[in-house]
Amino acid sequence: MIRVGVNGYGTIGKRVADAVSAQPDMELAGVAKTQPNFEAHTAVDLGYPMYAAIPERAPLFAEAGIETAGVVDELVADADVIVDCTPSGVGAENRTMYASYDTPAIFQGGEDAAVAETSFNARANYDDARGADAVRVVSCNTTGLSRLVAPLSEAYGVEKVRATLVRRGGDPTQNSRGPINDILPNPISIPSHHGPDVRTIFPDLAIDTMGLKVPATLMHVHALNVTLESDVTAAHVRQLLEGESRVYVIPEGFGLDGAGKLKDFALDAGRPRGDIWENCVWGESISMEGRDLYLFQAIHQESDVIPENVDAIRAMTDAADAAESIERTNRTLGVGL
Ligand code: NAD
Repeated sequence: MIRVGVNGYGTIGKRVADAVSAQPDMELAGVAKTQPNFEAHTAVDLGYPMYAAIPERAPLFAEAGIETAGVVDELVADADVIVDCTPSGVGAENRTMYASYDTPAIFQGGEDAAVAETSFNARANYDDARGADAVRVVSCNTTGLSRLVAPLSEAYGVEKVRATLVRRGGDPTQNSRGPINDILPNPISIPSHHGPDVRTIFPDLAIDTMGLKVPATLMHVHALNVTLESDVTAAHVRQLLEGESRVYVIPEGFGLDGAGKLKDFALDAGRPRGDIWENCVWGESISMEGRDLYLFQAIHQESDVIPENVDAIRAMTDAADAAESIERTNRTLGVGL
């Protein structure tokens, strides 16, 4: 059993903790939180050992009636792997603590690539993380792009990717984010940072990205143009993407015309928190103009990186090869719409 600790229990951390608990070959050693809020109470109800992420705040947990198993250092010392799910920038500050206990650590996409030996996407470069001490699971958008670039490169060769990312202003709980009534080129400078981030997975890829932020919390939507190296039909591309376990090609006739209905679909299907771990590619948008592929896809920012974190744990501990790990993660979480 791989003992996994989760440091930072917010949007990503609570999902990683649940996903780890669902794995037959992993055990959740505990979670570390900064404050005894509603998420802390839920974690305790779920039976997750609770650690104080900031030792001086440990008494606040006791005052709130939450028993702690210790402080974060003890969790790090006890775990075989720690998954850092703290806000952007805090992970890099925690790196020394993880190294001082020789505990391999996974960081999230909000950190700079330099935080880890390798950036990670299970479909694209699982083997690069095998045996590594520090791995960064790339951001939600980079994960979404990588899951398309990997099969397209292998099957047809990719000459150039151009992507426009229509990004949600904030997650549903982030009530201080926005815009609430605007459409922002964001960042205004071109290309956006997303292209270079995809190159942490595909170093030789030609990719330019542009970003916008809109008043939505549900999902991101990407408008993609990929110049392929081969002449193929849209039907071929569709078949290729339908064969990818973490890509859902939305069938025509389902009436899934936007992120709102996709989220409803996931909730109706009984998915935890309405999570959508797969890229959602609109089947009828898959089009070829010469060697130029066009398509739209929606990315659920809160959850697409969760199966990737589970696979990163197996890669770092050399517990399975890529195909085995991806299959096990998909089966236990229920990935595949
Ligand atoms: P979040 O704010 O929802 O959760 C972070 C949690 O860490 C909060 O509970 C916060 O209280 C806690 N925290 C703060 N300082 C801490 C510390 N020193 N020690 C332990 N915990 C601490 O953030 P999130 O959305 O879960 O993002 C976490 C990481 O995942 C970031 O790098 C982010 O860029 C990345 N990410 C986020 C999303 C998304 O859409 N939410 C998607 C992909 C990747």
